[in-house]
Amino acid sequence: MAFKKGTTIFEAAPRPFVQCAYVGCGYEALVRSKGLNLCRVHYEAQGNKEAAEHAAKHGLKTPADHLAYIRKLMASPRPHPRAWMDNPKSEIARRFADEVRLKESAPKKERVPGEDDEPLGIPTDVLEKQFREAA
Ligand SMILES: [Zn+2]
Repeated sequence: MAFKKGTTIFEAAPRPFVQCAYVGCGYEALVRSKGLNLCRVHYEAQGNKEAAEHAAKHGLKTPADHLAYIRKLMASPRPHPRAWMDNPKSEIARRFADEVRLKESAPKKERVPGEDDEPLGIPTDVLEKQFREAA
């Protein structure tokens, strides 16, 4: 594919044809989902199938049932924002949770101005003078 006819700047290699994973489907795969190369039609069919399974699992038959289910979910308390810390399957979550808890448990030290080499900051009157000179 060229950008402009006659003035070829960049010539991209043609994309290889990837067959949809469904037997008998002659369309090109556009999406890789759950280890399968799927065409648009089969990707939508997969999503619809999963949605139907979810609805059947929760006993949702009518749009009113779906609406009631969503409203129930919305009204339920939100999961704790740090629920990830207690994921028993994740080694990285355990490591970061330990780090976060260690930081939080450390006592906060109040800094007394002048006790260390950290600059005290620019006094407001000096800042105002600099601002007036710049304007
Ligand atoms: Zn297909």
